[in-house]
Amino acid sequence: EESYISWHQRSELDKLADLPRELDDELTRLDQDFWVSSQKLKDIVERFRGELDEGLSKDGQNIPMNVSWVPSLPTGREKGTILTLDLGGTNLRLCKVVLHGDEAHGEEKSTLDQEQYKLPEELKTGDAESLWAFIAEKVETFVKDKGLDKEYSTANPMPFGFTFSYPATQERVDHAVLQTWTKGFDIKGVEGQDVAKQLRDKIEEKSLPVELVCVINDTVGAMIASAYNDPKTVIGAIFGTGCNAAYMASLSDVTKLDPSDERIAAMQDTNTSTEHQKMAINCEYGAFDNSHRVLPRTKYDRQIDADSPRPGEQAFEKLSAGLYLGEIFRLILVDLADRGLVFKDQDTKNLHESYALDTGFLSQIEEDESPGFSQTRDLFHAKLGLQPMDVEIELSRRLAELIAVRGARLCACGPAAICTKEGITAGHVAADGSVANKHPKFKRRWTKALGEVLDWKKEWGEDGDGARGPIKITSAEDGSGVGCAIIAAMEIARRNKTRGRGQ
Ligand code: BGC
Repeated sequence: EESYISWHQRSELDKLADLPRELDDELTRLDQDFWVSSQKLKDIVERFRGELDEGLSKDGQNIPMNVSWVPSLPTGREKGTILTLDLGGTNLRLCKVVLHGDEAHGEEKSTLDQEQYKLPEELKTGDAESLWAFIAEKVETFVKDKGLDKEYSTANPMPFGFTFSYPATQERVDHAVLQTWTKGFDIKGVEGQDVAKQLRDKIEEKSLPVELVCVINDTVGAMIASAYNDPKTVIGAIFGTGCNAAYMASLSDVTKLDPSDERIAAMQDTNTSTEHQKMAINCEYGAFDNSHRVLPRTKYDRQIDADSPRPGEQAFEKLSAGLYLGEIFRLILVDLADRGLVFKDQDTKNLHESYALDTGFLSQIEEDESPGFSQTRDLFHAKLGLQPMDVEIELSRRLAELIAVRGARLCACGPAAICTKEGITAGHVAADGSVANKHPKFKRRWTKALGEVLDWKKEWGEDGDGARGPIKITSAEDGSGVGCAIIAAMEIARRNKTRGRGQ
């Protein structure tokens, strides 16, 4: 293990104030708990590879490595008009997607007409009936508002794709049994059930003019949508409320599937021999290290887990994803406040409220360049009703940094494990999600950590930041809209072809 370098030497932030001895000691302790060294990253990636392999060979492992029944990347020529639904965390989104394929002629390859709805908080802990009723009602409104009911009917339905960003076992591309809720969801009557069927039943009940063709994960969508435009795409990854990735595995490596399974034959492209046949795998690696073997968990991480609706699950996600970063920060401040080290004689009622702070709060603190960090001061006041002193601002900035740095470094481990396992030495990791896209320093930190794990040469980045490295993090195209539509179009084309072959 390399020797520990303290945050004093490592931090990139300007200093506002000297911390008093006791806070400085606290911060050093926290930093030791949160800092993930290069060697530790390598140990994590090694174990990560092992768990990816276990998931491909057997059911019921930590990382489930879900088979998505998407057998290839798109050609870029896929065409069609598809309705898509996205349920992933905070919002529900409906899109009418038109894919232009090779008729794009230099224009955008897809056009989108969309509406977004906030998911009512109580729905997330309600029951299946209310969830599907809410969704069906939105689909009905969308179909009417966009005049789709004039173009389509129940006899001639509009193809419909569903991006369902939770772990699901799929027996076909239009089937998905929810394994467990993640990201704080706890809706009764859905786990262990086929969400495609539940949705279809509601659609029928309401006689909506749509036909469900596919259920996909957001990571698979991000990979497919990005590959539609960028052939260098090798992985689709989400660093958002949750975290996860998808890649194209060789079918022969998915040893938990029986090669004589007729679904594989049905999927097979006549031009591809079995040994070259691929399969998109939705890793669901938020569940990495659920057995707690390598990840460095602090007492705050344990507390988040214990208070979550599914303790013991999504161990990796709980250290690195957007839903939890603000909460980790809050728990540290609560700990320090309860011990009389910060916010003395202030009303910390709001600070004591679970999930009062989101990742945006941390990004804003790290981004603040205003004189005297007045923006951070305003944030504390607006969100928590607190009036921080200079030392508290100083401490908060350091905390925001060390939590986000740990998150970004851990986030590099998943794609690093996939790349080393698959022998991928170059390409694009198409990333989406609020942490990837909104946190100002995430991509740079992520890339630096990836370079450390993969032992990248110094010339691939000044100061070892990996900026010129061969594996790059790119901004994914819209996976849950366009990606989902492409998968629906590919599935429809495959079905037509199979029918043509008389199977
Ligand atoms: C879910 C995944 C999803 C990821 C990112 C996780 O909590 O289990 O299905 O891909 O979040 O949205």
